[in-house]
Amino acid sequence: MKLTVYLALLLSTTLLSCSSTKQTTVATSHHDKLIMAVAWYQHSAEMTALYHQGFNIARQRLDQAVDTSQSGRKLAVVVDIDETMLDNSPFETTLINNEDFQKGWYGWTAKASARALPGALEFATYAQSKKVDIFYITNRDDNERTVTLKNLQNQGFPFATEDHLLTKSDLSYTTGNTSSKTGRRARVSESHEIILLIGDNLNDFSEVFEDRSVNNGKDAVLKNQAQFGQKFIVLPNPMYGAWEKPLFNYKDGLSDEEKTLLLKAKLIGE
Ligand SMILES: [Mg+2]
Repeated sequence: MKLTVYLALLLSTTLLSCSSTKQTTVATSHHDKLIMAVAWYQHSAEMTALYHQGFNIARQRLDQAVDTSQSGRKLAVVVDIDETMLDNSPFETTLINNEDFQKGWYGWTAKASARALPGALEFATYAQSKKVDIFYITNRDDNERTVTLKNLQNQGFPFATEDHLLTKSDLSYTTGNTSSKTGRRARVSESHEIILLIGDNLNDFSEVFEDRSVNNGKDAVLKNQAQFGQKFIVLPNPMYGAWEKPLFNYKDGLSDEEKTLLLKAKLIGE
C-alpha cells in the first residue's frame, strides 16, 4: 500500500514537473522578440514624435489638396486603424506574457479600449473641420465591426459610422489576396477623391507594395519614393507587419529559436 502511494505521488510529481516545464517553455518561447519593439512603441519619445511628425505632414498635405483640388468631388483621407489611429500595443504585451492568450485578438478588440495614437484624433477632427471625409480601411474582420466602431467612438473619432468603415470582406476577395485593400480603396474612389492615405504598413497605400519577394519590397518603395510624405504618410510599427514575412521566409508558426536563426543569418555585418 505504501509503495502504491509512493508511486502515485512520484507519478503526480513527475507530471506536475513536466507540466510546469512545458508552461515555462511556452511562456518564454513564442513572443520574446516583441519585448524591445513593444518597449520602444510604448515608451520612446521618438515614437510619439514620429506619429506627430506623420500627422503634421498629413495636415499640410490635406490643406494643399483642399486648396488645389479641381475634381469637384468630395475629398477623402483613407486611414488604416491598427497602429495608425488606435494603439493595440497592450495586446502585444499580453502576447509576450502569454496571459489570456486563449482569448486572443478578438478578446482584445471586444474590449473596445484601444487608445488613440499621438496626433491621430487631432488630425481626424481637423479633416472633418475642412469637410474632408475619413474612411477607415482595416483588415479587422466583419465580426469586429461593432466593437471597432465602438472603440473609435469611445476615443472621439469622427466618421466612426458604418458607411465609413471598410473591414476585411467586401472587395478584398476579388483580387485573390484576402488582406489586399485595393478593392476597398476603389470603392471609396467611386464617391470620393482620395487625397491622402495613412498607415503603418505599405499595403495600406497601394497594391504595388504587396509583393515583397524582391529586395523585401524596397525596390517598389524606391520606384515610388516621391509619394512618401506626399500622398502616402507612413507611421512606425516595429512590432509586426508585412515586413516580417520575407525575413521568416513566408513561414508561419516558427519558434522563437527558429526566428532568431533566420534573423541572424540575414543581418548585414561589417
Ligand atoms: Mg495597421
